[in-house]
Amino acid sequence: MQITFCGAAREVTGSCFHFDAGASRFLVDCGMFQGARMTRALNLDPFRFDPHRLDFVVLTHAHIDHSGLLPRLCAEGFRGPIYATAATRDLIAVLLPDSAHLQKVEEERALRHGHDYTAAYTIEQANAVPGQVRTVDYDTAFEPARGVRVCLRDAGHILGSAFAEVWLSEAGHTRKVVVSGDLGQPGRPIVRDPAVIAEADVLLLESTYGNRNHKPLNETLDELVGILDSALLERRGMVIVPAFALGRTQEFLYYLNQLSRQGRVRDLEVFVDSPMATEITHITARHLELFDAEATRLANEAHPPPNLPRIHYTGSVQESMALNRLSGGAMIVAASGMCDGGRVRHHLKHHLPNPRTTVVMIGFQAAGTLGRRLVDGAQTVRILGDDVPVRGRVATLGGFSAHADQSALLAWLGHLRKPPRQLFLVHGEENIAAEFATRIEEALRWKAHVPQLGETVRL
Ligand code: ZN
Repeated sequence: MQITFCGAAREVTGSCFHFDAGASRFLVDCGMFQGARMTRALNLDPFRFDPHRLDFVVLTHAHIDHSGLLPRLCAEGFRGPIYATAATRDLIAVLLPDSAHLQKVEEERALRHGHDYTAAYTIEQANAVPGQVRTVDYDTAFEPARGVRVCLRDAGHILGSAFAEVWLSEAGHTRKVVVSGDLGQPGRPIVRDPAVIAEADVLLLESTYGNRNHKPLNETLDELVGILDSALLERRGMVIVPAFALGRTQEFLYYLNQLSRQGRVRDLEVFVDSPMATEITHITARHLELFDAEATRLANEAHPPPNLPRIHYTGSVQESMALNRLSGGAMIVAASGMCDGGRVRHHLKHHLPNPRTTVVMIGFQAAGTLGRRLVDGAQTVRILGDDVPVRGRVATLGGFSAHADQSALLAWLGHLRKPPRQLFLVHGEENIAAEFATRIEEALRWKAHVPQLGETVRL
């Protein structure tokens, strides 16, 4: 019995773990590598296994760094079932074709500029994936192959997200492997808190924020109120919020609702200008069964208070362009979260030269993105071929992370009744995973290993 770390090893993208359990072979996740050019080149490398020989795939959640290479896997001969929650299936049906589309655009641009870029798959190949998904419920064990039992548990990270409990039996001997996927931070809106486990012989744990703790949510919301007061009431300008279409947009709208209910913000006019965010908001609303208690109560409220934000969803490009006529006192929420694509770039181009504008960053801004340049205080930025002066204000809110922080990860480990025989830290940058391994050793006296890309370990 062995595992090969085919991604998310000493980095945060490309989650893919290959299990060889004697009679069967399978993957947990098949994610895309994202970020720097060198990392993205890995998306075209041959798989470290034969897709034809895989019996099945377990998909923990819809984020592209966990699901994004499924189209290539299927195109290269994987014909088996992909086990995922129904919400995850609905979400990848939107996200995978969108990823293929973005790659196509990038490929065309590279061709024009003489760069090298090859899409990992086509839109048709992405559209074929949801047909291979078999949906499973949380907390319900199933047997995808002889000697393998799997149970998905709520990971509390995004809608439909799961961690996987896997029991592998060989020659009368059973070992329990747990793959954490991405674990959510407890107390976040809409989704429930992560489920906990008491036992694991082998544990693969994410470590994205293994070296630090998030700022408390209430402090972040206080800051948001301050920013909105200054932007909308004092400066009477526009507020532009770049937001990821999946998860972050829905959470942000939830917080705006909450703050309005508490009377802390008033008369908000919000335009959600991202067709994908709109579609994902609809998918979210179709999966009320996954909501936490507070979100369920609000969704079922017969008479919502009258002072909630007025939220408009724009569809066509014409509607989006018509937003240029707004001169102040309103908010536009648009993708992409790091401003490197999507409609938000048009709004930034239009509004950044105006000193009354406020841009509110609510997500991580990777190095090299337009979002990062704005956060770093650039005076001029290049958007859609033009140099745009930055005269507006750029505010950054750091407390909205969808990942468990160090304390939450340690608390989650604390539910185990005894140490796992093998603990692997994955899905974390190299130094962060190493720091977290040291912290685990101090706090729990457990040994953790940080595997390398391509490393194979006997279980
Ligand atoms: Zn994720």
